[in-house]
Amino acid sequence: MISNRLTMLGTGSAFPTQSYHSCFLLQSGKDSLLADGGGGMEILHRLDQAGMSPASLHHMFVSHVHTDHIFGAVWVIRRVLQLSLENSYEGTFQVLGNAEVTAAIQTICRLTLLPAYTERMQSVISLTTVSPGDTTRIGSISLQFIDACSRGCTQTGFVATLPDGVTFGFLGDESLTGRNLQQVSGIDYLVCGAYCSYADRDIFHPYEKHHHTVRDVAREAAEAGVGCLILCHCEDRDPESRPLLYATEASEFFRGPVMTPADMEVIELTDGRQNSLV
Ligand SMILES: [Zn+2]
Repeated sequence: MISNRLTMLGTGSAFPTQSYHSCFLLQSGKDSLLADGGGGMEILHRLDQAGMSPASLHHMFVSHVHTDHIFGAVWVIRRVLQLSLENSYEGTFQVLGNAEVTAAIQTICRLTLLPAYTERMQSVISLTTVSPGDTTRIGSISLQFIDACSRGCTQTGFVATLPDGVTFGFLGDESLTGRNLQQVSGIDYLVCGAYCSYADRDIFHPYEKHHHTVRDVAREAAEAGVGCLILCHCEDRDPESRPLLYATEASEFFRGPVMTPADMEVIELTDGRQNSLV
């Protein structure tokens, strides 16, 4: 049996104080996909901590152009180019994203990288524009891109089908809402944003920032028949008490497991339904 695993490299929202911006590594056997990069060079440290050498990384997906998701991608690209210039990187590094993402990455790299890097970029970095409905494969991981239906900017997510038939969905930093619910209906695992608990809405003001609360997400997850809910892009005032606080609030509506992982937490993605009564 091939092991499917999720490593949360970061779990915070745009201005985290005790965590890194939300991003993760999805792995199945030897196949790896980095999803979002967070906002800075810290991504390289997180990959190192996760035992993922950029020399072995060949696929990345970026959900949208906001600073807390895209600038880490530039650092990963820079590191790959550096390795390539040192003859320590083989093959190409594919960066998948919507048209806004690929255009922004192209521009940022052109304006900020040394000429030797931008020249090498043409042969090593494959910027691939994807639209909702497009499909691709990364080894044993098959991906279908979806519209996260964000009101903040154009935001793209994906549904991955892993070996053993486990399904995994990602909505960028968008919450599960009535607008995007159909696209992840019945999925085993869903990673989505939950900015804070509903009880704390007057402290963190999620709605003013185009975000939603744990309670909102839990209600939609029950409606969508999601197996296991993995919440991220959260406030990080008290990360240790967050999992219980969020799981308790979610349980009013959602019967399945609710995880609010800490940075660098690893989640084995088995059959999500096996956990449904936990
Ligand atoms: Zn964000």
